[in-house]
Amino acid sequence: MIWQWWLSLLYALAVVVAGDLYEVLGVSKRATDREIKKAYRALSRQYHPDKNPGNEDAHNKFIEIGNAYEVLSDKEQRAKYDRYGEAGLKGQHHQDPMDIFSHFFSGGFGGFNRGRQRGPDATTEMYVSLSDIYKGRVIEINVDLQGICDECDGSGSADGKTDTCPKCRGQGSILTEHQIAPGIVQRVQYPCDKCNGKGSVIAHPCKQCKGSRVMRERRPYNVFIDAGAPRSWNYVLEGEADQSPDWQAGDLIVHLTQSPKDHYGYRRRGANLFRKEMLSSKQAQNGGWQREITRLDLDSTITLSRKKGVSVQNGEIEVIEDEGMPIQNGSGHGKLYIEYVVIPQHSGSHDEL
Ligand SMILES: [Zn+2]
Ligand SMILES: [Zn+2]
Repeated sequence: MIWQWWLSLLYALAVVVAGDLYEVLGVSKRATDREIKKAYRALSRQYHPDKNPGNEDAHNKFIEIGNAYEVLSDKEQRAKYDRYGEAGLKGQHHQDPMDIFSHFFSGGFGGFNRGRQRGPDATTEMYVSLSDIYKGRVIEINVDLQGICDECDGSGSADGKTDTCPKCRGQGSILTEHQIAPGIVQRVQYPCDKCNGKGSVIAHPCKQCKGSRVMRERRPYNVFIDAGAPRSWNYVLEGEADQSPDWQAGDLIVHLTQSPKDHYGYRRRGANLFRKEMLSSKQAQNGGWQREITRLDLDSTITLSRKKGVSVQNGEIEVIEDEGMPIQNGSGHGKLYIEYVVIPQHSGSHDEL
């Protein structure tokens, strides 16, 4: 199990928590419970190990976030921490950050509880430069999505109370009878319009979401781009689409495409790279030249050269092994194909020949 190694890592790290707990959550010392909750909600999702595979920094951060929330969300612990700092928490046994996380998100919202109807997937588009695909990197993105209202925790109620609908008396539907002819009664049942068939109403709707239980929110994510990733692919963030108390959130699908711009003169086919290099007819005929071309890491160069007396034909192709794109999840690189284009001499010069 992947959890086992990192659980042991967790406990090892839980001991060495450092840094100000408020800073960890990015809130002020006067933050309200709700602000602390909100910060934890956003950060814990961003740094969740499931979303940051193999990223140790993110794992450590996730642990810190969990520990900070554990202390600051507890009145007594927070008061001790405010008064005595870390020392006030000595001997305190930290909970497993994964438990804190699942407990937080098991309150009937978020994408982490199973068994409810699944909501729709969400997609977002992103372009990635060829150089980024060459090197591999993490890109931070922000996506506007529907989230559970953090003011009322998805209840829609300002005071947390819901009342039985007075119109349908909690039935959710209303039964009417019409006499359509003497002795003939038609019964019609329809959903209650006061409570939309729910059977309950909220006397004091939440001010933030106006009783809708959801709100728009901007969520940060890390998108991992493998070195050598294909020209077009989907990065799936499970359970991160629009949230609703009524469903289990679908997946957020980040559709990544290699940008048609920023190619630095390279064209790509699979793991191979292609580029054209111009030579003057003098260089092509006589040889004796050297040139550096930028490698796609944008940090080093590839040397092309011909010794004196070595000529190059127009259209000649030089194949350089291991200078193509990295092989995704493998080792080595594809090939680089250089096509030489010899620039003809100026037309005026023909007369001199
Ligand atoms: Zn009703
Ligand atoms: Zn609300």
